[in-house]
Amino acid sequence: MDFSLVLNEIHDKLKNRNSEGKLAAYIPELAKVDPCKFGIHLLSTDGKEYCVGDYNEKFSIQSVSKVLSLSLVMSIIGEKVWDRIGVEPSGNPFNSIVQLEYEKGKPRNPFINAGALVLADILVTHLKDPKKEFLNYLRILSGNKNLQYNEKVAKSEKSVGYKNASLANMIKSYGNIENDVDVVLDFYFHQCSIEMTCAEMSKAFLPFATHGEAYHLPEPILTKSRVKRINAVMLSCGFYDESGEFAYKVGLPGKSGVGGGIVAVQPDQFSITVWSPKLNEKGNSVLGMKALELFTTKTGISIF
Ligand code: GLN
Repeated sequence: MDFSLVLNEIHDKLKNRNSEGKLAAYIPELAKVDPCKFGIHLLSTDGKEYCVGDYNEKFSIQSVSKVLSLSLVMSIIGEKVWDRIGVEPSGNPFNSIVQLEYEKGKPRNPFINAGALVLADILVTHLKDPKKEFLNYLRILSGNKNLQYNEKVAKSEKSVGYKNASLANMIKSYGNIENDVDVVLDFYFHQCSIEMTCAEMSKAFLPFATHGEAYHLPEPILTKSRVKRINAVMLSCGFYDESGEFAYKVGLPGKSGVGGGIVAVQPDQFSITVWSPKLNEKGNSVLGMKALELFTTKTGISIF
């Protein structure tokens, strides 16, 4: 299928509808991003690329990184990760603390901040040089050897990271964080600060469309069964308290981040990334959600 036409149509239709939504200004550095940026990139499993707009500009991947930290964690400790994190939708905002106390420090799922902090703790425990090794993992997945942390963004988030600090401390009080809270937070702020283009993000997520393998990787990153499970968690939890809405309107496993990126996969066919920085009140890209809804509606493709 030639996706160029449909991506161009969607881009044309939406590019001037950028009045809705707000930048993730709670992280001061992200308030500086040009709100009009809008790019889409689709990568098919056989390596064909279809793209439009600002698909080749870097943006902050933020919570999209949580899927990649989960996959690295699963490649290290496998299913044991679920002793410390659940797989249920939280029905709450990504940075909510309310469930954590009555669920005794076990986060609902790996894609809310609480869950991602436990993943960060696991990586800090198991890796010799966690920041270096995580970056290296993403360099291999994205095919960009020069991928970097954005130190300014990491520092900016740390300067206002009170909620993440309280989440980490709450989890630690129940014994579900092993390492020093500041070390775990530092890793987490850095993983969120990584920058990718839409093209790099589609590439990094291709293994989730191809049962763990991909044309640019020397070996599978995970077993088929683990990829299936991560996709299931993306479908049920990838968009926080808007996950049901995304499954209903788009019908693909996916993940969003407050940098305005959304990535989604259609198993055996493609990965697709949209970037538009303005967010709805749930923290998901307004145009990103809309573009993917139009895409699966126009093409008739979805996992259902
Ligand atoms: N770094 C962001 C935070 O912790 C990530 C949130 C997101 O992308 N939803 O608030």
